Amino acid sequence: MGFEEKIRRVTPYVPGEQPKEADIIKLNTNENPYPPSPKVEKAIRDFDADSLRLYPDPASSVLVEALAKRYGLKEDEVFVGVGSDDVLAMCFLTFFNSDKPVVFPDITYSFYDVWAELFRIPYKQIPLDENFRIVPGDYAGGAGGVIFPNPNAPTGALMPLEEIRGIVRANQDCVVIVDEAYIDFGGETALPLIREFGNVAVVQTFSKSRSAAGLRIGYCFANPKLIRALNDVKYSFNSYTMNRLTIVAGAAAIEDEEYFRSSCAKICATRERITKALRETGFVLNDSAANFVFASHPDVPAGDIFKYLKTRKIYVRWWDKPRIRNHLRITIGTDEQMDVLIRALKDFLTP
Ligand SMILES: *Cc1c(COP(=O)(O)O)cnc(C)c1O
Repeated sequence: MGFEEKIRRVTPYVPGEQPKEADIIKLNTNENPYPPSPKVEKAIRDFDADSLRLYPDPASSVLVEALAKRYGLKEDEVFVGVGSDDVLAMCFLTFFNSDKPVVFPDITYSFYDVWAELFRIPYKQIPLDENFRIVPGDYAGGAGGVIFPNPNAPTGALMPLEEIRGIVRANQDCVVIVDEAYIDFGGETALPLIREFGNVAVVQTFSKSRSAAGLRIGYCFANPKLIRALNDVKYSFNSYTMNRLTIVAGAAAIEDEEYFRSSCAKICATRERITKALRETGFVLNDSAANFVFASHPDVPAGDIFKYLKTRKIYVRWWDKPRIRNHLRITIGTDEQMDVLIRALKDFLTP
């Protein structure tokens, strides 16, 4: 047998495009249109480059302390990583270690099945209902693990905390991961569940609500036993995941609560306005609790709209996949960007 047969083959996750042109309107990867807090800029400006000679603190204590303080937790209830993608990958590796399938929705973050394949974890995708909602009764137990985003991506649908509590209660013999990448845009966090149940992990990120996708910080809140297990796996893989600059810039972002609240509020207000404007333009969409909307047009294929918008230098996200190929996921940008989008859509759709 040759060496090629011994190589691990995987079908990778495909992230949204990061076009190189400068003058585009980028509504395709759910980044925040507003800059990070001025406190982050100051922390980077004040950073001592000489300190880069030394390895960073492997425990990222400054960042972990800032997060613990902000969320009213103990430091042993917090784990940090290189974006929530890194944190979620560590969670899969640590918590999903059973012969029973891990379960998640059929329409959801498209990284879950990639990690399951990579780590050779059996999995089962559970269809959303015809309204693109998670049916809590479909997660009634017997799984090797459970994961779903709340709000779900790319649908934007929010599950009430009571339903999540029900799923956790029904799955006491495995870990339930709630991926809260978008929870700061109007949802209720499942964080209180980590002290009610030993088997819940709540994962959040700086990439969307904290305007810092480029910094790469994600974190997990859970019972100290789960956090210890995560750290054991992390230290078996790479001790120094967080670099020195990220640790101080991230802590500065957490300290600017007022900036965080006001930029989330702006995005929510724009989302409400754009939801209405899209409906007036003929689109059909459910209310979203995230920094994006998921919309389809009854008469015009989403793929055609997607291609037309590109000619106007507006990038949105479209997947040529069953059930969702007639939907566009549109990130909420600034009010000015969204006005340009609505203008372009009217130009295309008005005969
Ligand atoms: C954006 C996103 C993430 C990962 O974001 P990071 O930039 O790696 O923190 C995780 N889960 C969902 C559902 C997302 O949309």
